[in-house]
Amino acid sequence: MSEGSAKKGFGEKPQPTEEKPRKFQAIRGTRDLLPPETALWNRVEQTAHEVFATFGYGEIRPPIFEPTELFARAVGGETDIVSKEMYTFSNPMEGMLSEMALPEVEKISLRPEATASVCRAYIEHGMQQLPQPVKLYYMGPMFRRERPQKGRYRQFYQIGAEVLGGTDAPAIDAEVIEMVMTFFDKLELQGVQLDINSIGHSAPPVDGKNVCRRAYVEALRAALENVKDKLAADSQRRIETNPLRVLDSKLEHEQPIIEKLPRIGDHLCDECKAHYAAVKHELDLRGVKYRENWRLVRGLDYYMRTTFEITAKGLGSQNAVCGGGRYDGLVELLGGPPTKGIGFAIGEDRLILSLQESGKAPAQQGRDVYIAWMGENARATAIRAAKTLRNAGFRVELPPVEQKFGKALGQADKLGAKYALILGDNEVSSGEWTLKTLADGTQQKLTEPQLLEFLRKL
Ligand code: AMP
Repeated sequence: MSEGSAKKGFGEKPQPTEEKPRKFQAIRGTRDLLPPETALWNRVEQTAHEVFATFGYGEIRPPIFEPTELFARAVGGETDIVSKEMYTFSNPMEGMLSEMALPEVEKISLRPEATASVCRAYIEHGMQQLPQPVKLYYMGPMFRRERPQKGRYRQFYQIGAEVLGGTDAPAIDAEVIEMVMTFFDKLELQGVQLDINSIGHSAPPVDGKNVCRRAYVEALRAALENVKDKLAADSQRRIETNPLRVLDSKLEHEQPIIEKLPRIGDHLCDECKAHYAAVKHELDLRGVKYRENWRLVRGLDYYMRTTFEITAKGLGSQNAVCGGGRYDGLVELLGGPPTKGIGFAIGEDRLILSLQESGKAPAQQGRDVYIAWMGENARATAIRAAKTLRNAGFRVELPPVEQKFGKALGQADKLGAKYALILGDNEVSSGEWTLKTLADGTQQKLTEPQLLEFLRKL
């Protein structure tokens, strides 16, 4: 809020100004989604609603902003997302909340992801009392101040799901993955590649002694120290802060070095090994094809065991459309009871890009019928006809002002209409309407009921 507006009382009229008109543009990294592309977005989202419902998931719509601290804890204060990329502002309610006996929230952030919110909601609404596991999905915008490029935006959209509570049975991991694959299959997404890995477990420990990932991270760190001078500055820094992230490196000259590093698979404890083997077996039972990728890791401690990533065709370097994994310690970290958890997030923008690249996008949003009318009597009939046809579910264009038939037909063509319904004095008085098929120019005379029947049959 600016100084000036802060001083103005509510309801006070703004003073007329002499300001020059100014053109605005969407902020860098944000964009308008426009028709006909939005039709594809709707189709994708509708398919998600349908597919996820068949797996017993219910939709959750958490708020767009939350206390900054929630993301700092859940995503990790050291991550790029939290340390550099969040849109954070001070809470305008600051100072008033404690007077209202509400916990003080000094800083709030636009959500960079939604798993934290879903876990917060699970705890806040006592969902551990519901039959477990609780299966939730969400879709909506996320915000990260990243460097914008193709497939990477500052406001982007995710479709995600979380399974909270109950057991960590490998069948749950496999079914979550099966659901994403079913969804992509329904959309006919091309070039889908599923990579999986197990990253063992760290904190909280499964049985207190067998924290296999910790031992692995130490082995990795030691191996990295030995090759430190061959690594780039970023990777050198990560040896200390988060050695697992070195495995993400895309730098050409680091690849042969990374290939020789210790692999998590050789360090898994017996329980994690068994869990991973069982997840693969469960995927086989479901006919889900996967590739094992030992370099697929997540840096945060509460991520454990199953991790997966899905890539698709036509996306260039930003080709991950989905990332997911198990996070059994997260709900507890946010003050809830010990709770198993697994989930994924699909990047909807990239999913759409890939569908468009492979020609799965719908063309122009057409019209079924363009009503070309002339004369006052015809106008009343046209209004009525438009209402009837729209009620029957047809896409109808009714021009607001009278125009010559020639012009109207040209307009109908431009809009990609399939038919033009021609209503003039003759049609109105005889009750026989003219329907022109725009593709071949043929015409036929139909009464109103005949017209409806004809269109319905198509
Ligand atoms: P993450 O929450 O980082 O695991 O990301 C999950 C998925 O969201 C990724 O695989 C991407 O498809 C998508 N995604 C993440 N960040 C962005 C972004 N800035 N722009 C577009 N899509 C993104």
